[in-house]
Amino acid sequence: TVIRPPLVSKHRVSAKGSNVPDHVETFLELKDRYQVPSLILSNLTRNGYAQPTGIQSHGIPILLESRDLAAISPTGTGKTLSYLLPVLASLGSPASSAKNDAGLGIRAVVIAPTRELAHQIHNECLKLAEGRKWRIVLFSKATASTLADKSVRDKVDIVISTPLRLVSCIQTGNLDLKNVRHLILDEADRMLDPEFFPQIQEILASCTYVNIQKAVFSATLPAGVEKIAMEILRDPIRVVVGLKDT
Ligand code: ADP
Ligand code: MG
Repeated sequence: TVIRPPLVSKHRVSAKGSNVPDHVETFLELKDRYQVPSLILSNLTRNGYAQPTGIQSHGIPILLESRDLAAISPTGTGKTLSYLLPVLASLGSPASSAKNDAGLGIRAVVIAPTRELAHQIHNECLKLAEGRKWRIVLFSKATASTLADKSVRDKVDIVISTPLRLVSCIQTGNLDLKNVRHLILDEADRMLDPEFFPQIQEILASCTYVNIQKAVFSATLPAGVEKIAMEILRDPIRVVVGLKDT
């Protein structure tokens, strides 16, 4: 069995950077302050998420204010929701809908080091997005080949993938990342190590949207990796959550 640190309380949080947004104490505050859609908040409640965790109460406002973020918070403290909620809240109309007049296609990419993790993130994203017609795609061999069809790929809103899978799709020319507004690296300590970093650089190079928001999440960020993270991010805020007694 996995022993999880307590989700709420018992954490001390430090947030450093320029103009750090105030944290929230409740999910409801996000509705008043950032117009987070009620549907997302009711999906949270329905899934038993009553109170934001430390990384959520600090990280979500930072991302909703379109800032770059390096988030370091222990395993089991709810990092996934910290980035999925802001991404979904800023997504707007599904790419497949007539209201998405800009015809934007993929607007958010989440990268995780293993297929299993990508799968878990996808599940959590589907729960949070329930009731909206966003197309949230977990990349696999099968989805990669269906994306060869431009009319299919233009209707995708969010992609969740391992680095290798995404890069091979970029290389076939079957993926357009030029409208990606949010790029999230989960388990960033692994994503930025020498095994994956060349692939991450290739993904970064394909995400050409000028005001792209980037965020890295990790349980630990060794100094060498943190240096790389800080080079990728623009005027980032660094949030560190630690157990109070450690
Ligand atoms: P991490 O990525 O930091 O290891 P996860 O995002 O995987 O943590 O979350 C760990 C568990 O806690 C998951 O089962 C998730 O559904 C649950 N969880 C996350 N945030 C909350 C919350 N605010 N309230 C209750 N449960 C939560
Ligand atoms: Mg995680």
